[in-house]
Amino acid sequence: NALFIKKTQLYPIGTKGLQFIQVKANVPFSSFIQEMLQILIESILLTIIILGYVIFLVITIHKKDKLFKRREASVNGTIHDLKSPLNSIITLMSFIKKKVPDIHTQQLVENTERQAQKLVNEIEALLITARKDRQKVYLQKEETDLVLLVTEVAQEVSMQHSHQPHQIKMESELNELNLMLDPLYVRNVIRNLVENALKYSDDGVNVQVLIRNIDGNIEVSVTDDGWGIAPKDQKLIFRQFYRVRQHIQVKGYGIGLAVVKYVVEAHHGKIRVNSVLGKGSCFTFSLPKAQ
Ligand code: ADP
Repeated sequence: NALFIKKTQLYPIGTKGLQFIQVKANVPFSSFIQEMLQILIESILLTIIILGYVIFLVITIHKKDKLFKRREASVNGTIHDLKSPLNSIITLMSFIKKKVPDIHTQQLVENTERQAQKLVNEIEALLITARKDRQKVYLQKEETDLVLLVTEVAQEVSMQHSHQPHQIKMESELNELNLMLDPLYVRNVIRNLVENALKYSDDGVNVQVLIRNIDGNIEVSVTDDGWGIAPKDQKLIFRQFYRVRQHIQVKGYGIGLAVVKYVVEAHHGKIRVNSVLGKGSCFTFSLPKAQ
């Protein structure tokens, strides 16, 4: 190991130049480097393995994402295609309804027509949710009497829920209110709010639908004296697929309010909720008068 002994020069001490001092040290240089090199190689190898794994993960995620998007597109296409036969059924039903003389059969046909219309609405809601992050919803705005629209929907929902004792009261500060909006989508918004008011309440619920004119904005509120919503859930219910666990099972997918918010905002409006658990809820959406 003499190779690794490091020594300094000889330094004379004293004045006669007969005595010298020298420092010698044994530095096992190669074993130190060897050890370091080993650690270095190990770290590099580990980094390469981790990097490889990360790259592999990214590629897999990317592939899955692509596959998922393709599958989603085809599902959305299929959902969309379901709409046209349903619309044909609705048209046919309304035609048959006019032809049959018997009142009982007429009512049966009308019921079927309503169910088919409900399906179309649900398909529409599903499509909006699917489109949400990618494309803007395509609104077909036309001058619509909002008071009439709200009255119609309230009556429709009330009829469809005749099995559940309830009361829906409608009040409006204006008799007639023409706004530029997409009647199909806004109809869905009101329907969702009124249906929820009945869905998340006990029998005998009182629902009030109110239309007000507040500084250049129109406010529509749907109030119920049902189960109410806890403060922590109030912020989350407008998110897609968020549902509150109830004391009994209630059917639903948690997309209704997400669609409501989306449609209201697409009309440059806002939506808010006031609710007290056990007392009831009030959902209010506003729409600017000038769209
Ligand atoms: P879904 O009704 O399919 O669950 P929504 O998006 O319409 O989906 O509603 C989300 C959640 O908000 C519901 O699961 C329910 O817990 C709550 N909610 C909505 N409307 C009301 C209401 N009027 N009263 C009490 N809870 C409500």
